[in-house]
Amino acid sequence: MLFGRKNKIPIKIADKQVREWKYTTCGYCSTGCSMEVGLNPEGRPIATRGVAGADVNRGKLCVKGIFEHELFNSAGRGKEPLYRGRYFEDFTTIGWDAALDTMGTEIKRIQHSYGRDAFAVVSTGQIMTEEFYTLGKLVRGVLGTNNYDGNTTLCMASAVSGYKRSFGSDGPPGCYDDFEHTECLLAFGSNLPEQHPIIYWRLKEALERRRFPVIVVDPRVTMFAQFADIHLPITPGTDLVLLNSLAHVILDEGLEDHTYIEAHTNGYAEFADLVAHYDPVSAAKICGIDEDTIRHVARLYARAGAAMCIWTMGINMGINQSTHGTDGVCGINNLSLITGNIGRPGGSSLSITGQCNAMGTREWSSCSGLPGYRQLENAQHRREVAAFWGIDADFFPAKRGLTMTDIFPAIETGQIKGLWLVATNPMTSMPNSARIRRSLEKLEFLVVQDAYVDVETTQYAHLYLPGAVWAEKEGCFTNTERRVNLIRKVCEPHADSRPDHWIFSQLAQRFERSRNMKFPETTSAIFDEMRELSRGDGRILDISGMSHKLLEEKKGIQWPYRAGDEQGSPRLYSDSKFQFPDGKARLLALPYIENNEVPDADFPFWLNSGRVVEHFHTRTKTGKIGNMNKFSPTPYMEINPDAAMELGVRHAAYVRLVSRRGDAVVMAQLTQRVPKNMVFIPFHFHDCVNRLTLGLLDPYSRQPAFKQNTVRIEHIDQELAARLNIESRAY
Ligand code: SF4
Repeated sequence: MLFGRKNKIPIKIADKQVREWKYTTCGYCSTGCSMEVGLNPEGRPIATRGVAGADVNRGKLCVKGIFEHELFNSAGRGKEPLYRGRYFEDFTTIGWDAALDTMGTEIKRIQHSYGRDAFAVVSTGQIMTEEFYTLGKLVRGVLGTNNYDGNTTLCMASAVSGYKRSFGSDGPPGCYDDFEHTECLLAFGSNLPEQHPIIYWRLKEALERRRFPVIVVDPRVTMFAQFADIHLPITPGTDLVLLNSLAHVILDEGLEDHTYIEAHTNGYAEFADLVAHYDPVSAAKICGIDEDTIRHVARLYARAGAAMCIWTMGINMGINQSTHGTDGVCGINNLSLITGNIGRPGGSSLSITGQCNAMGTREWSSCSGLPGYRQLENAQHRREVAAFWGIDADFFPAKRGLTMTDIFPAIETGQIKGLWLVATNPMTSMPNSARIRRSLEKLEFLVVQDAYVDVETTQYAHLYLPGAVWAEKEGCFTNTERRVNLIRKVCEPHADSRPDHWIFSQLAQRFERSRNMKFPETTSAIFDEMRELSRGDGRILDISGMSHKLLEEKKGIQWPYRAGDEQGSPRLYSDSKFQFPDGKARLLALPYIENNEVPDADFPFWLNSGRVVEHFHTRTKTGKIGNMNKFSPTPYMEINPDAAMELGVRHAAYVRLVSRRGDAVVMAQLTQRVPKNMVFIPFHFHDCVNRLTLGLLDPYSRQPAFKQNTVRIEHIDQELAARLNIESRAY
């Protein structure tokens, strides 16, 4: 036998007999990778590849994207609508007409008996932007309930609130190209290599051409922290202390950009007074980062010609997912503003979104307001949209209703009697799942609309509607850098599942109020309607130059993109004009309030949670894909070897974690990645981390604090645990 590099036998990749490649965009994370799905001679999807000419991913895909064609025929897909009565008889199949008639009748009964707001709607970040727009038109213009939200409240709501408080509008100001220009990157609670592998690859490409410091703030030694130049292992929940302290050093040492502050911001005096109290010596005692390191990082950041901050929903620490998540985002924005790092190449404050179309729902779903970043609180906006849809402006509420995290407590108290969940799975994703279960059991009518019939929440549904998944339909997603990308239809919907926009417009026809409204049949026609609604002088979210055809040609376009524009806008606020009436941004004084559930004698460990590269959110999709599940099949806990030794916990043993809310069984993995007083669990698994979490809410965004919890560890019978674990994870 011959060995050695010279005699290596090349790997042969079997010819899959792809007959045709169809252009689309990845449906997992918000990176927005352009891809093509290969069809075999029978028209079956059999392969996926990246698109070389696409600016976002330049031919690359991560491990999830590469296997995405397996989604179409994966296990657990819903085939037809299912219905059962009020008392949870067995599900029986029911045709689409009967299903939508029943749904219309039940919504009318609940709204007639208890009021319009007694029926609530919670959607997702997973469906197309045109579908979000149609759902918003149905909910705001026809059903008229004000208790309407998206599951994006669980991930990016604090980024939205923070951008609005600092800049006067939502909208991430930067883009991936900023990596090519920045001279310092400060990453908060972001584990890019696992969460957004292709954005990480863009960063690595930039670093190979030109060195600049990468600083990662995270209580856990994540993959990103291992690759960083400086890692700040912060105490959970104290990010605001670190941010204020960095600002303190910048002002104290005169490193701020005073000309920019003077010309383009308000609130400097109050801000400076507050951060004066956050000297690094005092801050170090709270946030766990030593005084010298705080000073060093502040100088690196402020002295860089261009510096940028990125953060995600709070994997491993708590920027967004914290009781002061919005303040944390504003604290990051403060750093950008005092150093003039907004709207210029390499200078940005960029939130990295989670779901593929979390941005689409922020922009067009009307969950928190009206389409195109219009506000319910603004009478002019209400009039504009009402006139455009052909309804009476008085039908709109003048103030936003309940968020997702307030809807469940309102079910508990009997204020809400009916709920429609669209592509979201609160039994796995919401904190304190025992409380969510009790809420769902109280509902008079629960509709679950999802591509998968086996999502855990379906157990509590009265009506199940099978939605088409991802590229079984056509439409757009907006990615993290405001790039609108097109998804072309690759194959027909599975069995008798239907595109979500079809379900929304068909339901609208069951209501008299929709008679004078138009619900276009194709997503391309819906997009054209949105385009017209976006047109306007000075409107930040302007897509009036876009069309489906152009989006495919250009492999995505970043908004604003006005009619007549030659190219999209890589950055917002390049003209330093912000979205407040005076055009100035706001520097905000943000006092730190200690409200963590902190380790004590009864619950001595911080409970930390986050994502692994193989899985996406509640595993509804990746849990069915062979390779994803094979690489990461089991819920596990990372524990420091010293803590494990003291407790007598062996590597790969099962243990029970107990919090004040509940318990969960996980497998122990001994690693120095976590400090001695912390355990980490991937958040993807059902009946796991969210049996333990508390979920106190941020006062602005109502986003839960998933990371501010504590647990203790108990030994259990290993054989029984292994059996239970294997049985409960099997699909
Ligand atoms: Fe899909 Fe995100 Fe992976 Fe790109 S990085 S292939 S968008 S999951």
